[in-house]
Amino acid sequence: MFIGIDDTDSPNYMCTTFLIIELIKAFPEWDLIGMPRLVRLNPAVPWKTRGNAALAINIGRGKGDCRMIGMLGNRSILSYPRSYSEPNQEEVLERASCVVEKWAQKDYSDPGLVILSKQPEESLYHQAVTTILEKDDVLRVIKELGGDYFQLNNGRGLIGATSAVAWRPKDRTYELLTYRHRELWGTERVISEQEIRLLDSRYPSTFNNFDFENEHPAIIPHTNCPILYGIRGDSAPDLIMAMLSIPSEIPESWLLFITNQGTDEHIITDWKTLRPFSSYEVVGEVIGEPWTLRGGHVFISLKSDNGIELEAAAYEPTKSFRNVIRELRRGDRVRVLGEVREDYGTLNIEKLEVIQLAPSYIKKSNPICACGRYMKSIGTNQGYRCRVCSTRADEAIMELEKRSIHTGWYEPPVCSRRHISKPIKRML
Ligand code: ATP
Repeated sequence: MFIGIDDTDSPNYMCTTFLIIELIKAFPEWDLIGMPRLVRLNPAVPWKTRGNAALAINIGRGKGDCRMIGMLGNRSILSYPRSYSEPNQEEVLERASCVVEKWAQKDYSDPGLVILSKQPEESLYHQAVTTILEKDDVLRVIKELGGDYFQLNNGRGLIGATSAVAWRPKDRTYELLTYRHRELWGTERVISEQEIRLLDSRYPSTFNNFDFENEHPAIIPHTNCPILYGIRGDSAPDLIMAMLSIPSEIPESWLLFITNQGTDEHIITDWKTLRPFSSYEVVGEVIGEPWTLRGGHVFISLKSDNGIELEAAAYEPTKSFRNVIRELRRGDRVRVLGEVREDYGTLNIEKLEVIQLAPSYIKKSNPICACGRYMKSIGTNQGYRCRVCSTRADEAIMELEKRSIHTGWYEPPVCSRRHISKPIKRML
């Protein structure tokens, strides 16, 4: 029996993943089937709180070899590969809705809880991760599958909750989340930053641990939420080892989630028109020199292989990534991934591959006259003239620019990456 939840937290407090811990506590006589799912949906959704995460678990009577995937105080949390019997749907709804009622930040959120004995079609997840869905579409799916739901306020969380159940892990990663003792919520987290800096080298299957450019530990949340830290990676056992390597205050509980983080599943690769609130892969050519706007945002113009002209931008928070965009030149061939913004229709660059560098020429000097002197410029775009013998020339002496970028992938520093964006580390 799947339980999906979403939209329960506020910008500075609580976390929907914590409600999974509370749901596990609420069903002590039932087993977890598979791992809890932490599913990132369309990052371009305007009403998301942070990373547009939705959560789901599957409970039943476990069968097959179980694995330990977490601890709740002194109790192990086990996960079974299959189930041979399921709880009663109405009972699950009643108990799970008490959990949402108790923990949801009702003044800030639109909580949704769904109970489904069957998974919705996978296409629902694909729509939710790439486009904007209507709540009515999701209510229809719940009804068709004979599911139940509970909602507070406008219940928009039902969109994410149902889509999280619809996800079929293909490319998948894991996140190990640790939770603080209740009395410590809101206090400074006690954790060794030094060890976090070492995670990438000690556990190469982990990613987005520390932002070395901004000197920031990316595994620690900024808010007063119950999370102590969360480590992301490709190997669940490595995440447990990584957790054990970090000296910190003792967490009250920890839990492994299977996720679509770091997969780029939000990117639409096959498209004819670019629409706001979705993210695309655009392959094409740079058609002008880069320019910088006040505030430090860097722009380029592109023409895609299917003939669409657009502007793409690397915004100020992407820091040194903007230097890569500044180094692009007319004629370079690139692959750009990013969200189309509603306001200007600009593509917000999340990652870039330089496919081919075009030869670029820069001015070396004014032309030299036959009489041996350097010519002088007559005015912008008007050419050159020798002051002595009045000989004219149109062009300066040019030389091939030595490019400081090369072919390959580039991405922003860890702190300005999206949870769902695939780190280059995972692409190699
Ligand atoms: P956190 O990451 O802290 O859990 P969040 O960023 O996930 O917060 P929510 O508070 O869950 O933000 O808000 C996202 C809202 O958007 C939810 O109500 C969810 O159901 C809804 N939503 C998610 N994906 C879509 C989509 N594709 N179309 C429409 N609504 C969506």
